[in-house]
Amino acid sequence: MSRDPRYDILFEPVKIGPVTSKNRFFQVPHCTGMGSNWPNAHAALRGQRAEGGWGVVCTEEVMIHPTSDELPVSSMRLWDDSDIPDFALAVEKVHEHGALFGVELAHGGLSRANLTSRIAPLAPSHQANKYATLPQARGMDLYDIAEFRRWHSEAAKRAVKAGADIVYVYCAHNIALPMHFLLPRYNRRNDAYGGKLENRVRLLRELLEDTREAIGDKAALALRFAVDERMGADGLQWQEEGREVVEMLAELPDLWDVNVSGWEHDSKTSRFSEEGFQEDVISGVKALTTKPVVGVGRYTSPDSMVRVIKSGIMDFIGAARPAIADPFLPKKIENGRIDDIRECIGCNMCVSGNIQAVPIRCTQNPIVGEEWRRDWHPETVPPKGSDDQVLIVGGGPAGLEAARVLGERGYPVTLAEREKQLGGRVTFESKLPGLAAWARVRDWRIGQLNKLTNVDVYLESLLDDNDVMNFGAPHVVFATGSTWRRDGVGVTNRSTIPGAGGGNVHGPIDVMDGRVIDGPVLIFDDDHHTMGGLLAEKLLDDSLEVVLVTPSTLVSEFTTLTLEQAFIQTRLLERGAVLHTQKNLTAIEKGHCWISCNYTGRETEVEAANVVLVTARLPNEAVYHRFAKHPDIMELADIKTVSMIGDCLAPQTIAAAVHDGHLYAREFDAEPSGQGDVPYRRERMILES
Ligand code: ADP
Ligand code: SF4
Repeated sequence: MSRDPRYDILFEPVKIGPVTSKNRFFQVPHCTGMGSNWPNAHAALRGQRAEGGWGVVCTEEVMIHPTSDELPVSSMRLWDDSDIPDFALAVEKVHEHGALFGVELAHGGLSRANLTSRIAPLAPSHQANKYATLPQARGMDLYDIAEFRRWHSEAAKRAVKAGADIVYVYCAHNIALPMHFLLPRYNRRNDAYGGKLENRVRLLRELLEDTREAIGDKAALALRFAVDERMGADGLQWQEEGREVVEMLAELPDLWDVNVSGWEHDSKTSRFSEEGFQEDVISGVKALTTKPVVGVGRYTSPDSMVRVIKSGIMDFIGAARPAIADPFLPKKIENGRIDDIRECIGCNMCVSGNIQAVPIRCTQNPIVGEEWRRDWHPETVPPKGSDDQVLIVGGGPAGLEAARVLGERGYPVTLAEREKQLGGRVTFESKLPGLAAWARVRDWRIGQLNKLTNVDVYLESLLDDNDVMNFGAPHVVFATGSTWRRDGVGVTNRSTIPGAGGGNVHGPIDVMDGRVIDGPVLIFDDDHHTMGGLLAEKLLDDSLEVVLVTPSTLVSEFTTLTLEQAFIQTRLLERGAVLHTQKNLTAIEKGHCWISCNYTGRETEVEAANVVLVTARLPNEAVYHRFAKHPDIMELADIKTVSMIGDCLAPQTIAAAVHDGHLYAREFDAEPSGQGDVPYRRERMILES
């Protein structure tokens, strides 16, 4: 298929200083959790982006010196020449497909604890570290500033030596040293680098000039700059100093990469933002410079992309998350395969990997992070190893993904789903406030299954062991999901909460189905992921009084990893929910409950007409065990293998269920990715001889 001419504009080449991008698709710098600890994995991931059609492919943050050491989180490092090969490897893979390679040089200043290097963190003035109470950051003297500029220049030269086409100066996300100099709340200096804006911007200007000198005309110079901190008058605002900085530096870089700060605003989830959510501020940049501009906004629709270019908001479509969810997004537009685009759902599971210091994962794209380690490719699957039929029981994320991949491999597949609709938990959860985009997990897979003639789907088909036996497929996969417990057993309570069996006690599904209609409703969240906070919001939407009790210090604690926690807790408080943190639910009685302090054990009575327990889930594994434990029955039914995937194996995130379904289907009848007991390739440290 060929591309729709309406999208031609997206494929125009654009000049960036001395280099030219073949199109307007720009994978902006984004973390992968791989960095210099997993250089092969990093290079393979970036290479697949280039193969997928992105005109520019950038690294994540690249630390220029041990004074900016963010370990155990792994980003890239260009501390000395021994780091160059990590980059050269990625450059080779990116250039192979005709894309430009961008390197984002960074120094985290007072945002880095330097836990490994054990060097005092650097800041414009003496102050507390941004993320850790200790060590405090040290105010830089003029010698430190000169040294910092030298390190940056040296790193820029190394980037060019490695083959970079674009070299970045990084001043965004509120975690960059030049940004710390720019912001009066961090910069309390009274010399030529402090005080009026012209002084606070001095270091950034110098870095741009130094970097230009270091790279010459061998590479383009880019500036990543956050034009607004979304803090109103307490921070940098586009209408004030944000705009002034762009005006002052307008023609210095060859490219402006603009966004909002901090990271929670830049990578805002779909629960709290729409596609194009940064346009209100970044759209003003183009009028102030003749240089090309790139920005992000979770753009997945080619029509939106065309609008952004034609209306003069940007010259490039910048993407981090849309590129993670579908590395082949540009190619699919180019080949007229719009329906095949796997759209990002804006859930930030990708971010969670980085924060936990492990390689990236994605709810939509199970391949990401596995490009090198398991040699997976998003557009190809191994051919089938037999003509055996596979029966998949359950059409949630795990079952759908397994059916899709097995189908693409050429197996005859039957997918049986109990409900009237496919999607499992995604179908329920996408109806919760702000989660409509999550339905894309289901809808993309249904779209792909509809193109396969060898996959039969049966709805309203609850299969028991007799049905499975009678069906006669040699391979049976249970993707039957899990069920929320109703006894209160979870992280904190390892045995039933007294009163949990009462008629006033409900599970999440009752709230989703609208069966909880009287307040006050007490939600006990001992799951700590998203569900407790989401149900609270849904009940508030239904105009019920909500009391949320959690043993954690934070509501929906897991969401610190998806950058949403503060937004969730703020929203619940603003809407009048009563929050009891660091409290356990000890007893449920008619009309009220008892909660106790984590530390003193002191009990308090709380009024509650209804109670919703959000604690743990149990796998729906009963039918599986009728076979797995009975080889005689399997033989009788001619079943060769029986397996469990997704939540049915162990309740987890949707991302994990999709990955599990993919892993099963890709490795079914095929060579496993790893060797022996290790299921994947590992990157090894090289011992010095
Ligand atoms: P996962 O995230 O692992 O895919 P879900 O709970 O989202 O798990 O999906 C499981 C799906 O399996 C649900 O749609 C459910 O209706 C379906 N299911 C559960 N038990 C059976 C069964 N015995 N027969 C057919 N479908 C089932
Ligand atoms: Fe998008 Fe979620 Fe994938 Fe991140 S994890 S790229 S937010 S779908």
